[in-house]
Amino acid sequence: MSAPIFPKLALIGIGLIGSSIALAARKTGLAGRVSIHTRSPATLKRAEELKLGDSYHADPANAVRDADCVILCVPVGVSGEIARAIAPALKTGAIVSDVGSVKASVVAQMAPHLPSGVHFVPAHPVAGTEYSGPDAGFAELFENRWCILTPPPGTDPEAVEKLAAFWRGIGANVETMTPEHHDLVLAITSHVPHLIAYNIVGTAADLETVTQSEVMKFSAGGFRDFTRIASSDPTMWRDVFLNNRTAVLEMLGRFTEDLIALQRLVRYGEGDQLFDLFTRTRAIRRGIIAAGQETAAPDFGRPHGPDLKKA
Ligand code: NAP
Repeated sequence: MSAPIFPKLALIGIGLIGSSIALAARKTGLAGRVSIHTRSPATLKRAEELKLGDSYHADPANAVRDADCVILCVPVGVSGEIARAIAPALKTGAIVSDVGSVKASVVAQMAPHLPSGVHFVPAHPVAGTEYSGPDAGFAELFENRWCILTPPPGTDPEAVEKLAAFWRGIGANVETMTPEHHDLVLAITSHVPHLIAYNIVGTAADLETVTQSEVMKFSAGGFRDFTRIASSDPTMWRDVFLNNRTAVLEMLGRFTEDLIALQRLVRYGEGDQLFDLFTRTRAIRRGIIAAGQETAAPDFGRPHGPDLKKA
């Protein structure tokens, strides 16, 4: 157990990410007390049943009172409205952060509401699963994953370092960049892949010549991998696309051009060029495994044969 970095940590939103932070903070001792607010009484009650915090609040302002650090763990589209609600109750010197998958929009929504005297250090832990809600969290979620901080110019370096130390303490590697650069990088590594998954699963569901039961019965590894991504939380992902429009459209433009080029290679039987591309892409996966960001186990280590039904 470490000495607490934050005597009081407030979590606004207690789904997958909020509950994982709560569990990791408890496991490491990096937060003295954890106060929790979430929108619905049912989720707040569930957080209490799971003993995720020390106090539970229906009003976000009550949760953040006296907190040394406040982390918003809600869909990015509501960041501004929550910043407005908590602003009058924030302690001078508090660090205000978030975990949103989009950064420029979150900064634009939140910054105007935050009083001077609090330190605004937006963050995005690049870690997650396709599950949501307070039952989905686990303390190890952030281990060896990246957490990207996007502090506005002029932010107190001590506050940035304190938040970085918290993320490192719960297992993450920390990097700092501008919100705009973050949004461009994540558009290609996360947002566009999700859009492609939603699209391919949607297309399969709409096919007229192949029944939905055939899609489920004969789903091959490639399709199954897409369905995992396409089962991610609809609210969270709707907000990601509404709030990272420019970068997503830019990357989608590149993607579409490359897809048309690939379509031509298939149409004209250009086997050598297909082979060269598939060789390059295989090297990228090997690089991700070598960087410790993915398992080398075949089929992601999923059970096969008789173990499949038990899993
Ligand atoms: P989640 O499991 O669906 O939990 C969402 C939380 O936000 C719940 O406490 C929910 O409250 C609350 N909430 C939802 N809509 C709200 C609204 N309109 N107003 C106020 N509160 C609302 O979501 P999550 O996966 O933890 O994601 C939270 C944030 O983390 C998002 O910004 C997302 O972009 C980011 N993120 C997610 C992942 C991932 O893989 N999931 C990874 C990195 C970052 P109630 O249940 O009480 O309604």
